[in-house]
Amino acid sequence: MKIIEPIDERSLCPMIVVAAGQGHRFGGERPKQYIELGGKPILYHTLAHLHGTPLIPYILPVIAPDGKELWEEWIGPHLSTLPKVLPPVLGGVERQDSVYLALKRLQSDSPEEGMNTPPEWIGIHDGVRPLVYPSLLARLLDARKESDALIAAIPAQDTVKQVNAEGAIEKTLDRSTLWLAQTPQIFRYRLIMDAHEQARRDHYTGTDDASLLERLGIQPKVVTGDARNLKITRPEERHLAEFLLQQEIS
Ligand code: C5P
Repeated sequence: MKIIEPIDERSLCPMIVVAAGQGHRFGGERPKQYIELGGKPILYHTLAHLHGTPLIPYILPVIAPDGKELWEEWIGPHLSTLPKVLPPVLGGVERQDSVYLALKRLQSDSPEEGMNTPPEWIGIHDGVRPLVYPSLLARLLDARKESDALIAAIPAQDTVKQVNAEGAIEKTLDRSTLWLAQTPQIFRYRLIMDAHEQARRDHYTGTDDASLLERLGIQPKVVTGDARNLKITRPEERHLAEFLLQQEIS
């Protein structure tokens, strides 16, 4: 899919980082993005990893409407080392609402100095995927010459079964065509904003941003993701991420 003229490969791509979820699956002390990994909150690692990529000019975090105190307590002390991180936007009930509110914020009041229009490109990343490495970001940003919508994804390696509510297998899916979607997902700003607005009009909620384009007949492209780019949902993933982070700094 390619709808606009060839892009300047060097063009910048700000990132929205959604961290407005209330997930308490680690024992209920606080939402998972503020749980520590190697002594610092998961969300700090996410922001710090994105921060290192020069083509990302700024990062717009989205936090829970009642999450200002947590942000100040857990991320506040690190902000002096993260100058590209803007003041957070308050998110919504669903992840999709949180992304939309951030997209809207960029439309009305672009934080890029001297600009009063939204960015040409925008990336969207889950705050609970802390191990987002420069190699993956470079692959995604480079692939902008091929498409206006790109997502990190991993080809399925396990055999995938479709299972009904009783736990019985209904069928085995063709693994060769299946990919597991990750974030970052990057888009021409206008394309994804229009798709979000259409989804809102239709009361449609998808589980990622790319699906909002797919339903309109637009086909985002996959870029090979990174197995280390885990979405931390359960304690197992946290332990794995802790190990990988240790490898990184040792
Ligand atoms: O809930 P799930 O694991 O799908 O969340 C993925 C990401 O979306 C997390 O980083 C979470 O904080 C974020 N999220 C959000 N606003 C919501 C729900 C989830 O920003 N209302």
